Amino acid sequence: MKKQIRESLLQKRELHTKTEEDTNKIIEKLLSLPEIKKAKYILLYYPHRNEVNTLPLIKKFLKEGKNVLLPKVQGNNIIPIIFKDFSQLKEGYAGIKEPEGKPVSPEKIDIVIVPGVAFDRKGHRLGYGKGYYDRFLSKTDALKIGLAYDFQIVENLPAEEHDVPLDLIITPTQIIQTKEERK
Ligand code: ADP
Ligand code: MG
Repeated sequence: MKKQIRESLLQKRELHTKTEEDTNKIIEKLLSLPEIKKAKYILLYYPHRNEVNTLPLIKKFLKEGKNVLLPKVQGNNIIPIIFKDFSQLKEGYAGIKEPEGKPVSPEKIDIVIVPGVAFDRKGHRLGYGKGYYDRFLSKTDALKIGLAYDFQIVENLPAEEHDVPLDLIITPTQIIQTKEERK
């Protein structure tokens, strides 16, 4: 079940042509959140394949003096690493760019920005199928925000015991408050 949805949505995402307009709309919505303004430690992701482009956000947060973190895969786990400069990046797990640097404890993080293949309105998320984010998100109380294009929001995703739901999902057209949808 998960496998079929993953393959179909991944294909849709690969075929999707990214536009700067969509990126800007998502970023604008994200920056309107009071939680973002207050946040000191933010874990983002370095965009891979056709994931929503986070580079403008990374640059903006760095300029504002926030602690920007990027994930590094170590064994089965994601380790948040302090990111200061693009020269820290090296190709790591699955060809994804990862920083070399100082790790930060997951409890310190205020906000985690999560990529995905598909999402539903209740906050369920489908990743590449390795469970890296589920394992990481279970270790933090950070506000969990998924970034997506509208076609990545599907009716109902199968959720398993280990799946950690997201608090918010932001698309170019909407901010989904998943708690409201779970009532
Ligand atoms: P994804 O979230 O990447 O779409 P899944 O939710 O299907 O992938 O998870 C993939 C696998 O990762 C699961 O079958 C499970 O064995 C493992 N996994 C996920 N979360 C945990 C966890 N907290 N502890 C141990 N294993 C986990
Ligand atoms: Mg999962």
